[in-house]
Amino acid sequence: MAEVEVPAPVLPAIAVVETFHSLQGEGLHAGRSAFFIRVAGCDVGCPWCDTKHSWPQAAHPRRPLGELAAEASAAAAAGAAFVVITGGEPLQQPLDGLCAALAAVGLPLHLETSGVGELSGCFDWITLSPKPHRPPSADVLARCDELKVVVTSQDDLAFAEAMAAEAQRRPPSGAAGPELLLQPAWDESAAQELAVAYVRRHPSWRLSLQSHKWLGMR
Ligand code: SF4
Repeated sequence: MAEVEVPAPVLPAIAVVETFHSLQGEGLHAGRSAFFIRVAGCDVGCPWCDTKHSWPQAAHPRRPLGELAAEASAAAAAGAAFVVITGGEPLQQPLDGLCAALAAVGLPLHLETSGVGELSGCFDWITLSPKPHRPPSADVLARCDELKVVVTSQDDLAFAEAMAAEAQRRPPSGAAGPELLLQPAWDESAAQELAVAYVRRHPSWRLSLQSHKWLGMR
């Protein structure tokens, strides 16, 4: 009987822009050591986006999941306290395989998403940064731990309150709502004044600054 040639298994992989070990620059976990995986691909089209190079998924290499897990493991040994899956818009690729591979590393997994797309993967912390022109899915709104709204104008404050009201209508009984953060653009003083004044009058919100940009870090 002729031997059947078995094709080599296709390694599970995901398109990735970059990986790096740094400090989380923004949000509730700002200032903590973290390993970042910037996943490629985004069609959300925010005009202020500072990672436009991440938009075309095909322009970035597909990285084997085992290789990414090995990098995360090395970062953990070097002090990283958690792994951040960011983008791009990470939910534009299925994240179950990546999360499964990273689970072996033993670090908490954080997701940073606009909420556009179906939630996949398994996370210890979800940061939702919703965009007015592409509202997030109800699922991500219900399950986020942190709601971080970018502030560029007065309209963003009304949008932030609408998103907070939606997020606080989460289904699991007894679950607390997400932490509420307003994040002005780091180089727009008018937006910063708007956000600071709003947080001063509305103590359920807190200010998030992009400290990595102030420090010139990734
Ligand atoms: S969702 Fe994020 S990566 Fe995509 S365009 Fe908006 S800011 Fe950029």
